[in-house]
Parts: sequence; structure tokens; C-alpha cells
Amino acid sequence: MEKEIKISEIKAAAQSAYNEVKDLTGGKNANYIPFLANIDPNLFGLSVTLTDGTSINIGDTEYKFGIESVSKVPTAILAMIQHTPKGVLEKIGADATGLPFNSIFALLLENDHPSTPLVNAGAIAACSLVAPQGDSEDKWKAITKNIAELCGSEAVLLDELYESETATNFKNHSIAWLLKQYNRIYDNVDISLDLYTRQCSLGITSSQLAIMGATIANNGLNPVTKLQVYDPEISPKITSMIASVGFYQHTGDWLYESGIPAKTGVGGGVMGVMPGLFGIAAFAPPLDDAGNSVKAQAVIKAFMNKLDLGIFKGDTVKIISD
Ligand code: GLU
Repeated sequence: MEKEIKISEIKAAAQSAYNEVKDLTGGKNANYIPFLANIDPNLFGLSVTLTDGTSINIGDTEYKFGIESVSKVPTAILAMIQHTPKGVLEKIGADATGLPFNSIFALLLENDHPSTPLVNAGAIAACSLVAPQGDSEDKWKAITKNIAELCGSEAVLLDELYESETATNFKNHSIAWLLKQYNRIYDNVDISLDLYTRQCSLGITSSQLAIMGATIANNGLNPVTKLQVYDPEISPKITSMIASVGFYQHTGDWLYESGIPAKTGVGGGVMGVMPGLFGIAAFAPPLDDAGNSVKAQAVIKAFMNKLDLGIFKGDTVKIISD
């Protein structure tokens, strides 16, 4: 079916989804990273950026929260830019684990293969792949430059979060050394793990993440800055990864109910990609048992339902000005 949606309808759907969800309770801030436990649980923001560059921002959309696992997406893109999508498939994989983000079992089950750059094992491997090899600071510059290009502005390191994660990431140390055992880490182990920890500790806003989502939805062309950040062939690859594992063990339920590929982070952010149409991001700190923001999930689902959108609907959707 061919369908036209006015920008004013999208704005209204965003506002009404936000109003509906704003008083929702439930969930708890992540507490295994001490810094995250202390963030105001009432913060709540919703941002949508259309592929024509129009941005809609409601609530706390300029608050810088920990990007956490949403950072796995830009670094997977960077690894594809530098090593091609095929290279990333061979060195890391593109398979769902169906297990929690930091599962060691997943790594053992896949026969020494990290599965996908969107779980901890694959994300540490992706950091190890970032060029130039062996040079921690230049690798970091490449990671942050790529994020800045995708969002159209820089993300800043939250020093306190970085210290907090570095002091408590024992399980990630185990994962990194297991990768070493399997020859699935492609640079110094300590450098790779530190880069992963640092990228998770970047502060980002929902308005920035919506632009990143829109850049992916727009085949690598940032709709706000008009910069072509990467080769268009990367967009369907990264979107397929987001669709298959973006919510870890709850990815199937998420996709079934929301109809939009999205990636979560334990900082309370969720970034969704609606190919050809828009990027969407929501932020609220309290998480469900799997580490996904309760309110961010609810508001994105409500927005999608109000507009009757979903990647599996088979509609040809055109967004038009009023
Ligand atoms: N830095 C977190 C970790 O590695 C990220 C987890 C997440 O956001 O899912 O444990």
C-alpha cells in the first residue's frame, strides 16, 4: 500500500506518545555500574530526525547520558568502513546470540566466534579492528570522529562514568582474554578493552542519537550536515545487525511488537532506524531485567503504533510537508 504521512502528523504522534508514557513507572537504573545508579530516574526525552533533516525533540533531549551499548553501532560501522562489511562478517560475525549482552556462554557456544559486533565480545573485537593498530590514542580519535560525523556533533567523555566502568568491568576482562585465547582479538587486549570501556562512557543526547539513526536510515548521508559518512552498502548491513540483536535476548519480542530495528544501552538510551524515513531515539534511565529502558521502549512502540508503521508492513511510505 502507498501511504503519505505529513510532518505535522509525525510531530503530533511524537508528542502524544511522549505524554502517554511520561508518567509510566517501573524498572530500575543500572546498578552494576555505580555511576549509572545515581542518575535522576525521572529524566525522559524523545527525539526523531527525518531523512530530510527535520528534527523533533521533546523533553530532556539535551541531557548527556552514557551511550553505553549504543556505541557498539558506530564502531561496527567504522570497522565496516575500514575492513568492508565482508571483512567484519568473517572476523566477527553477524549472528544473533539470543543471550545477554555480556554472555560468556554465547562466546563458547559459537565455537570461539564473537557472533556480532553488537554484543560485548564482538564490540571488543570491533575496537581491536579499528585502525591504526597498536595506537590507542589514534584509534580513539577514529572512534570519536566517526561518532561525531554520524551525529553531526561531538560526544564527550563522562570521566566519572569511565572511571566507574573501568573499576568494575571484570566480566569484560574475561571476555577480552577469552577472545585472545580464540585468536579473535586483533590488537593488544588491554588497548581494545579500554577503548570499548571508553566508548561506552561517552555522553550523548537523544537528539544526537536520533541524527545517528537518521544517518543510517539515509544510507550513510547525514541529513543534517549533508556529509556522506560511509558507503551506502553499509546501511543494510548495520541495520540487519541492529534488527537481529539490538535488544539482546529480547530482540524478537521487541521487533514483533515495535516493528523497528533498535539498539539499547544500559545508560537508558534506545536508538531506532526506520530505513528511508527516520531515526528515533529515546532516553529514560530505569531499565527492565534485560537492561533495556522501560520508558524508551514504551514511547517508541507508542509512536510506531500511532503512525501505523513497521518495517514488515510492506507499505511504501512517503513523508510530505504540510
Ligand atoms: N558498558 C556496558 C557493559 O559492557 C554496556 C552494556 C549495555 O549497555 O548493554 O557492561
